Order: sequence, then C-alpha cells, then structure tokens
Amino acid sequence: MSEDKDTEEVIEELTPEEKEKKWKQQLKSFIIPVLRRATFRWPPRYAAEKAARVGRGEYLCAKCGAICKPKQFTLDHINPVVSVEKGFTDWNDFLERLFCPQEGYQILCPQCDLIKTSIEDSLRAEYHKQRKELAKQEKKLCKKIKRESTK
Ligand SMILES: [Zn+2]
Repeated sequence: MSEDKDTEEVIEELTPEEKEKKWKQQLKSFIIPVLRRATFRWPPRYAAEKAARVGRGEYLCAKCGAICKPKQFTLDHINPVVSVEKGFTDWNDFLERLFCPQEGYQILCPQCDLIKTSIEDSLRAEYHKQRKELAKQEKKLCKKIKRESTK
C-alpha cells in the first residue's frame, strides 16, 4: 500500500507535458517490439526470402554473394526502418518502412550485415549531432531576434 502511494506522488509531480512525453515513450517502447514481431508474418518478407533462395537451405547474400544457411542470414531492410538522417519521425513513416514491399528487403550474410549496421549507426550518430547543433543555433538566433525586436 505504501508503494502505491509513492508512485502516485511521483506521477503528480510531472507537468502535463512531461506526462505526455512519458506516455509517448511508454507507448513507443511497448509497440515497437510488437510490430517488429508482426513482420515475421508479413507476406512480402516471406517472398523476399524465397526469392533469395538458390538451393535447398541456401540463400545468397545480396552484397557479397556468399551462400548462407537459413539461420545465418539477416533479412535486412534496405532502407532502414528508422531514418538514418531524420531519426524516428512519425508512426506512418515507421510503419511504411517496417512493412516494406518485397523489393525493400535483402538477404545479408553476418559480415555484410555487420558492416551495413555499423555504417548506419555512425551516420545516425553524426546526423543526430548535427540536428542537435542546428536546434541549438536556431534557439540562439530566435532569442537574438526577439531581443533586437524589443529594443
Ligand atoms: Zn555478404
């Protein structure tokens, strides 16, 4: 009972904006794994896998041409599910990227997958830094303009 009281007190301290932000984060972290699991039953995904099959239990890596066994390869989204440049934008964009058409998938061997992922991760970090820097500059500029207009 005392535990309930504690959590209530914490929630009451949040502003409406903070509450909304918290709820959105909770929704996002709950729904993304659910949606990702659902893609395993997405027909274009099956079709892409089937198209990359070159023999019994053999799949061709789209990048290097290596032959992979069924549990070795990654069925990769050619266009990353979360934009490298923009990050998470909205649910429409996310859904359309996640449930892409057959052409949006490729089979990658572990090595090619690792390379693609690490390139995307470093680009993502770089773009994130740039977006943050731009937002900071914009804020500064807005403040400056406001100051000058009130003079
Ligand atoms: Zn490969």
